Parts: sequence; structure tokens; C-alpha cells
Amino acid sequence: MKEKVACIIGAGIGGLAAALRLAAKGFDVTVFEKSTEPGGKLAQFGKDGYRFDMGPSLFTLPGLVEELFTLFGKNMQDYMQVIELPMTCNYFFPDGSNIRAWSDPDQFLDEVQNSGADRHAVEQYLEKQAFLYSNTADFFLFNSIHKPSTYVGEAGQKSLKALHKLDVFSSMHRRNQKTFGESNLVQLFDRYATYNGSDPYRAPATLNMIAHLEHNTGAWFPANGMYGIMSALMKLAHEVGVRFLFNTGVTGLVTSGRQVTGVRTGDCVYPASVVVNSTDITLFYRDILPNKSMYRKLMKRERSSSALIFYWGVKLQSDLDVHNILFSSDYKAEFKGLFKTKTFANDLTLYIFITKKVVPEDAPNGCENWFVMVNAPENVGQDWEEEVSRARKAVVAKIKSVLGVEIDNFIENERILTPEDIEQRTGSVNGSLYGHSSNSTLAAFLRHPNFSRKYRNLFFTGGSVHPGGGIPLCLASAKIVDEMIV
Ligand SMILES: Cc1cc2nc3c(=O)[nH]c(=O)nc-3n(C[C@H](O)[C@H](O)[C@H](O)COP(=O)(O)OP(=O)(O)OC[C@H]3O[C@@H](n4cnc5c(N)ncnc54)[C@H](O)[C@@H]3O)c2cc1C
Repeated sequence: MKEKVACIIGAGIGGLAAALRLAAKGFDVTVFEKSTEPGGKLAQFGKDGYRFDMGPSLFTLPGLVEELFTLFGKNMQDYMQVIELPMTCNYFFPDGSNIRAWSDPDQFLDEVQNSGADRHAVEQYLEKQAFLYSNTADFFLFNSIHKPSTYVGEAGQKSLKALHKLDVFSSMHRRNQKTFGESNLVQLFDRYATYNGSDPYRAPATLNMIAHLEHNTGAWFPANGMYGIMSALMKLAHEVGVRFLFNTGVTGLVTSGRQVTGVRTGDCVYPASVVVNSTDITLFYRDILPNKSMYRKLMKRERSSSALIFYWGVKLQSDLDVHNILFSSDYKAEFKGLFKTKTFANDLTLYIFITKKVVPEDAPNGCENWFVMVNAPENVGQDWEEEVSRARKAVVAKIKSVLGVEIDNFIENERILTPEDIEQRTGSVNGSLYGHSSNSTLAAFLRHPNFSRKYRNLFFTGGSVHPGGGIPLCLASAKIVDEMIV
């Protein structure tokens, strides 16, 4: 066997980033993917002249994608154009007011001021999040917090400077309420908890830092839609010789002492000097490297929320932006539904994402592609037909009451994605979007490490391990693994 042979399990963004990084290190890389195509949660589909991004819609830290091209001396712009959106999100509040969150920080502050809210409080808040991010991101996101060397190294030392401001014992909501009083800004900033599928009433206030990424570093979008990220990376991967085996699920690992020597797909064994798993970590310990106690331990931990999405081809031209939020009147009840009763609240917050606003070919002339998402509980065997029917009525009513549009009159075609579908499509336990939830102070430390304590050449990337879910964090996990493989 050649010395540097890497097998990557799963062709989602986490697996693909790991494949590219190892190829850049001179490994002979094969990616095993049980589905017919790459992408995992980052997928797309077309229907009757409409194109829809199926999963992720928000793109932060594009520099992490760019790094993958730079590794091979290539220019990302030759593979995908990334544009800066003038507005991060268009927010509609239950009291009938509207705040447009402009990407330009000063323009956003003007908007806040015009809405009657406290401009200075927002300015200070965002400065604080910028300070926290710049001092702690290296520690929490770009290094392994499961290695003692991180604590004594530069990243650990730097993060000490911000320790007193980290707010680990307050919840996001409590901190936001203290900062903004009764203003709509509380709901606006609480919403960032959903960027990793958490509950702002329980998640540590440290996570308020997520707002920094959109408000201080800009809102980005691939010029041909979110799937453009996957297409560009796949093109690069093919050019640099990464091999892909689709319809090829990994069924086990071959081990010898403290080494993994290969991966098994049914009757075939593929030798490997390094294995990187990028599938859901809980199922990995059930299906690929069976370990009952580990599996049970991971199953017990609370999962992140899931999503219910209506993909609607609509024959209308709206005044909406790319990203739009129609807030519910009882945010707390929604999160209680998501994490306690595992059902939908009566009044729902809607997220409407329309790529047609920047990608004209994504819908026919005079039409738009509406991706209407509500946060959903994980799949614990609910009657989804019943839940979807109830939620759909609430969604249609909300659109009518906030936008004044009888949307049912304009829908030309519809596809629905439930938590159960997400689980089946991507092998994510209970359809959770971001692995385990980040609702506790210790959640970051309890995530599975990027390495195996038992096997020296087994590593982990993707949204269910450190540092967490979402495209940037999956890319960060591959970066951490890259640095561990000498
Ligand atoms: C509806 C939705 C909205 C989201 N919104 C955002 C957003 O706006 N911004 C953001 O940054 N993130 C968002 N996310 C989260 C983001 O999509 C994920 O964190 C990220 O794509 C996960 O990538 P991954 O590589 O870890 O896993 P996945 O994308 O789940 O890929 C895992 C792959 O492994 C394959 N696999 C499973 N088992 C095996 C096996 N035994 N052998 C071989 N292959 C196997 C699966 O088929 C799959 O292709 C969203 C996700 C969803 C579903």
C-alpha cells in the first residue's frame, strides 16, 4: 500500500473540505458517499423552471472556502463568484414594524435609530461581539478544545483576555433583554441562536457572538446560489485528483491495534493510512465503528432543532429581499415547542429565502422561488402529515397578515421537506440540522473531538463534531483535522 492514502466517509461540505486539504498534503484521496451525489445537507433541486437551494441559505466567512482554493494556488473567483448582499435580512415584527438589517454597519445603525431603538446600545453590543470573536475564535473554532496544547498555546492565552466578557452564565435572551430592554432588537438578536439550532432562552450568551459575523463582517452569497459552493469545490476536487465513489456507503472499518487500516463497503475493503469520518457521529458509532456505550451516550444528548421547509414556485414579484424574517408574537412559546413539547407553536416565525432576487435564472420571468422555513423540533416520531398540515395553515395565515398576500393563490408548485425527510436524506439523527444542541454552557466542550482517542489515524469532521454545525464550522473542523495530520 502507498504510504499516504486517505479515505473520507461522506461527501458533505465537511468531508469535501477534508478531502481537499489532504489532497493538498499529497495524499491519494477517495471519498465514499452513500448517496448518488455530493452535498449532503447542502443540496439543490429543480422543478418546472425553478431552482431551489434545499438546505443552507446563509453564507458567512467565505474566506474559509477561499482557503481551499489557495491551498492549490488557485483563485476562488475563477470557480465561483461571491457577492456581498446590501442587506443581511429584512425583519418584520409582530407590532407591524420593520427593520432592514443593512450590511453596512452605519446604515444599519441609522435604521435602528429611525426605528426608535437605542443606536448606541447596538453599536456597543456589536463592538463587544467583535472583541469576543477576535479573541476567542481561534480557541473555540479553529483549534481542538480537546487537546491540552490548545489551552497553553497562543489561542488559549489570547482567549483569556476575553474570559471576563464571555457571559457563559447568562442566556442569550437574558443578556439581550438587559441590553435592549423591551425593544424588538431582543428578538432580532435572539434569533442568532437558531444559526446553530439552539434556544436563545437557554443557550449561553457567549453565542451572541454569532451576530458579529453578519453585522460586522458582511452578508455574502454565491452568485449562482448556495449549491454553487459545492459545484465549485467538486470541480476543484476533480482537478486535483480526488476520487469519488457514489452509491457507496461505508459499512465498517478494518483495524489493527491502534490503527485503522481500511474502510469496508459491503464485501470490499479499501486500504487507508488515514480515515476521516464526516457522517453523523452518533450513527458512526452505531453503523461504522459499533460502540454501544458511545452510541448511547451520544443519543442521550439534546439535539439541535430541525426544519420544516415549503419550497414554493410562486407566480408573483414581491418586495421582499433575499433573506426575510416574519417574527411570531410569542418567541418563547416557539422554543418551548421545539425543545420541550416537540411540536409547533400556534404562531410561527417564518424565514423566507428567495435566491431569484440575486440569481435571475432561478425562477421564470415574473415568478419567484420561495423557500419558506419554520424551525421544527427533531423527529421523534410525530405524525408529520398532521404537523405539516397545521404548520402550513399557520404559515399561509402569517404571510397574509404580515405581507397582505393570499399566497395560496400564487403557488404554481410545491415541495415539502420535513425533519423526517432530512433524517432519511442525510443520515442526521432525528433530522437535527446541527448535531447536538448548544443549549448548555458546556456544550462546546461536550462535542465529539476531531480525533479518535483509540485509533491514531482516525479523524472526524462535519457538523456533528467540534466546533459544530453550519458551513463555516464544518470547514473549520476540516482545518483542525488538517493540522493534526502530520
Ligand atoms: C434545512 C437546512 C438549513 C440549513 N441552514 C444553514 C445555513 O443557513 N447556513 C449554514 O452554514 N448551515 C446551515 N445548515 C447546516 C449545514 O447545512 C450543515 O451543518 C452542513 O452542510 C453539514 O455538512 P456535513 O458535511 O457535516 O454533513 P452532511 O451534509 O450531512 O453530509 C454527510 C454525508 O454523509 C453521507 N453518509 C452518511 N452515512 C454514510 C456512510 N455510511 N457512508 C458514506 N456516506 C455516508 C450522507 O449521505 C451525506 O451526504 C442547514 C442545514 C439544513 C438541513
